[in-house]
Amino acid sequence: MRTLGRLAVIGLVGGVAIVGTAYATGFDLAQWQHIGKARNVLVVDGEQIRIPVPDGPSERRAASLPVTTDGAHAFMFEESEQGPTRYDPCRMLEWTHNPEGMPEGAEQLVQDAVADVARNSGLAFEYVGQTDEVAGFDRPLFQERYGEGFAPIIVGWSTEEQTPDLAGSVTGLGGSSSVNGAFGEQRFLAAGVVVLDTEDVADLMESRRGTALATAVIMHELAHVIGLAHVEDPTELMNDENSMLITWGPGDRAGLAIAGSGPCQ
Ligand SMILES: [Zn+2]
Repeated sequence: MRTLGRLAVIGLVGGVAIVGTAYATGFDLAQWQHIGKARNVLVVDGEQIRIPVPDGPSERRAASLPVTTDGAHAFMFEESEQGPTRYDPCRMLEWTHNPEGMPEGAEQLVQDAVADVARNSGLAFEYVGQTDEVAGFDRPLFQERYGEGFAPIIVGWSTEEQTPDLAGSVTGLGGSSSVNGAFGEQRFLAAGVVVLDTEDVADLMESRRGTALATAVIMHELAHVIGLAHVEDPTELMNDENSMLITWGPGDRAGLAIAGSGPCQ
């Protein structure tokens, strides 16, 4: 994976898609506290979209977690002096689910995985209900169906035919876009995506410890969403070939705590 200056890069296992960002010189009088500062603009398909100013107070939505463990962890976007690019911990991480194609009984696994990642990262997730958007890494970052602001994190189900990156033993994919904040140089993650392989997850769920293993796969993909990358250490859940782990290793836990301790916008 590579990151290109101020270009926004979609983090995705095994590939990189790029959407451009640019800086505009205008400012909005309603943004009185930012008068004189250029509003950042995202260019998508040639159209300029002003990066939304988050509303609400700049206070963490959940307590940050101290790093208490030691082990291998890595981040998708290590691109600035402020550390890895992360979600804004002062905002709810809204997420939505498209259950189309979901194996029977997997809804609870998704909910459990989100709750686990929230608990271990100090990021606050908010379920905003189901969607019929098809989860994929070419999704628009802004969508009318979700109103203003970046599209919520989406969890969806797919097949190897629909999503060739799921071919073979790949059970899921996860990632987020790295985008500028509304003003200045800060960068944040946004509009995350988890795509799960219906058939592989169904097979896993039938195996011994299947529910726990399938939940661990979803946890792994959600960890990509909040910025964690793969590590080579096979005792960590963020190893890319995990087959038997059902919970986080010490490096994973450190990485999750850091992922949840980014700056507020
Ligand atoms: Zn992975």
